[in-house]
Amino acid sequence: MVKLLDLQAITAMHGDEYKEAVNRVIDSGWFLQGNENKQFEANYAKYIGADHCIAVANGLDALYLLMRGYKEMGLMQDGDEIIVPANTYIATIIAITRNNLVPVLVEPTWQHLEIDIDKIEAAITPKTKGVMIVHLYGRIAYNDKLGEICKKHGLKLMEDCAQSHGCAWKGVKTGALGDAAAHSFYPGKNLGAFGDAGAVTTSDPELAEVIRALANYGSQKKYVFKYVGMNSRMSEPDAAVLDVKLKYLDEDNKKRQELAAYYYEHINNPLITLPKRINDENNVYHQFPIFCERRDELQEYLKENGVQTLIHYPIPPHKQECYKEWNERSYPITEKIHEQELSIPMNQVVSDSEAREVVDSLNNFK
Ligand SMILES: *Cc1c(COP(=O)(O)O)cnc(C)c1O
Repeated sequence: MVKLLDLQAITAMHGDEYKEAVNRVIDSGWFLQGNENKQFEANYAKYIGADHCIAVANGLDALYLLMRGYKEMGLMQDGDEIIVPANTYIATIIAITRNNLVPVLVEPTWQHLEIDIDKIEAAITPKTKGVMIVHLYGRIAYNDKLGEICKKHGLKLMEDCAQSHGCAWKGVKTGALGDAAAHSFYPGKNLGAFGDAGAVTTSDPELAEVIRALANYGSQKKYVFKYVGMNSRMSEPDAAVLDVKLKYLDEDNKKRQELAAYYYEHINNPLITLPKRINDENNVYHQFPIFCERRDELQEYLKENGVQTLIHYPIPPHKQECYKEWNERSYPITEKIHEQELSIPMNQVVSDSEAREVVDSLNNFK
């Protein structure tokens, strides 16, 4: 069977190094806010090209803390609007509403699957304070025009980089393209920990300081609390493991790009649509989404033929029960994506013969 994601095989690639890193932490007896966190924060900030990296407990916290930071700085208030793609993963939206901010959902384009930058200006109101882009599936959601729109309207440009570790635009990494960015190191991401972990990157020193305090109970000085904060910290073993994995990230992404090239060159079933192919710099292929009008049938067929797949995602945020108030709204492109999307095996351990199996199965579907 070709697995969608074989974390055991991925971890085994550098298993000894991970064990050595974790053992070092065990022997040190220091498990939170120590040297491993410092080291990883410095290395990740450098990799991204941001002045600051704040390691936190998970990606959702990173997203939440980013906007909470702006609120504590007085730059955003309850009821302010944040523009966000309608087809994102629910975490992006939850982080906005949990801050008492209002998500303004904007459709993606069918070709790129990312927020339609040409529709952003029409969505701006006097209450708009920011745009949260999401580099979904590892594809770049930024272009120069977006940067100009945000500047012109005085909007904070925020990035959800949970799926885009290593992706870049004209040499600048996602995570350093806007004012601040949230990263997730959930095990299945391109840069994944052995549990939950996340980070915020920014080159704004004030925001970095506020977020660091907020993630640590709102404290900047031991037992002195400036904000009603939360406990969102990365464990030392996770930081140590991520620091090892970071060294291999570009290599791993290159393998994903090679697999993607193979898929693009060999999948030729007219019943299946592939997303528009873009430069490798702009795509780290967190997922390889394909589209089919008979998606559920295709998924069943692939399963019978030993190919694991997953739908990212079956129900869009505006159709979820937790956002009942939006259920009657219509976002046709988002809905079409959710009806037709299927993610096929895409990672650094898919072998040549497995890739052939995936392609053959897809091309044999009638
Ligand atoms: C994974 C993911 C998150 C959330 O990250 P967690 O670490 O699981 O909290 C947020 N946004 C997107 C787009 C994601 O894929």
